[in-house]
Amino acid sequence: MATLSPILKQATPVIVDHALGSWIYATDGKKYLDFTTGIGVTSTGHCHPDVVAAAREQVGKIVHAQYTTVMHKPLLELTERLGDFLPSGLDSVFYATSGSEAVEASVRLARMATGRPNIISFHGGFHGRTVGAASLTTAGTKFRSGFSPLMSGVHIAPFPHAYRYGWDEETAVDFALKELDQLLASISSPADTAGFIIEPVLGDGGYIPTPAGFLQGLRERADKHGIVLIVDEVQAGVGRTGKFWGHNWAGITPDVIITAKGLASGFPISAIAASTELMGKAWPGSQGGTYGGNAVAAAAGVATLAVIERENMVQNALVRGDELRAGLDSLKGQFATIGDVRGRGLMQSVEFTAADGTPDAATALAVQQAAIPEELLLLTCGPHGNVIRIIPPLNVSSDEIQAGLTRFTQALKTAAV
Ligand code: PMP
Repeated sequence: MATLSPILKQATPVIVDHALGSWIYATDGKKYLDFTTGIGVTSTGHCHPDVVAAAREQVGKIVHAQYTTVMHKPLLELTERLGDFLPSGLDSVFYATSGSEAVEASVRLARMATGRPNIISFHGGFHGRTVGAASLTTAGTKFRSGFSPLMSGVHIAPFPHAYRYGWDEETAVDFALKELDQLLASISSPADTAGFIIEPVLGDGGYIPTPAGFLQGLRERADKHGIVLIVDEVQAGVGRTGKFWGHNWAGITPDVIITAKGLASGFPISAIAASTELMGKAWPGSQGGTYGGNAVAAAAGVATLAVIERENMVQNALVRGDELRAGLDSLKGQFATIGDVRGRGLMQSVEFTAADGTPDAATALAVQQAAIPEELLLLTCGPHGNVIRIIPPLNVSSDEIQAGLTRFTQALKTAAV
């Protein structure tokens, strides 16, 4: 008899029977409020009827239409629909399956387009688990430790983490941009630098919104030096932050957008978008993959974008996010172990710290675990594991937000005193 590998580390013992909207119905008969959404994936809630119908219909037509062999209608439709949400000028889309693969695709594109070797990523960034993507990832040593050497040609620059440094945002941005300039002057010259890669909100690295001034600073430097600015929207994109793209908060336009997770409500599909000119600098056939741009996932993606628009889910993410944030802010004063509350839209978090301000991972884990008997599912994150992230579906209701806050408060009372 085979068993599942202990390599898998699970945050909860829950075994799902079925799920609908914000709720997971487990085999133990319990009904859990799911504020994990499969790590920010089930954007339209579990099993949205339109997404299920689109996938069902497509399964009966063709499941695997391998896209380097034959093209299929759902991918053409998804590309057209996605075009409505992409910034003007980013009119060329390449598909893969996972976020990590799309990150790797963006690195290859930046290298091929510039003829330069190096990529600069930022402390706390999470870009995936494959070797190339892990090389860019510094959201915790658990994503790197023990399987070096990773990909070469990667440099990591400081992120403007105001809370951790005890600075105001402006000071943190100024520091991080100066450090970046220093790196470009001393380690990786612009002539050797193909791209910057950054999340608009650090995800696994602690749910820290990237200050607008920092993204603007990167844009300026990318323009000045011909460096490709890659924004990794895998977790923050597709409405999660209350704007369609996380970088919209900074008013910049990236050269490459990476998207995955919420794009198809749980069906695996990812993409990179760039200008036709930039994409044209990579030779045809330089990228691909057996399962890339799967037909059922693409059909689910088309349905996802349609319901996000029809049901005003981006706006809902903003309004419900404010309600969630107000509730979390009010808890901050009540529990001394809460050091910081932050996030954007429905990407909110609570950081736990000891009295001296050092990260308190034990309390974060205890609260996450104490939420399980309250039938609330949560995840931790951050390099120190001391942050709880709260990721409801984009169509979460006001009542569900309040129910989540009540359950979270109960878990805090059990574990964070
Ligand atoms: N980039 C970001 C910002 C992510 O949050 C993730 C997944 N957590 C990835 C890339 C990697 O995606 P995947 O797990 O689908 O490979």
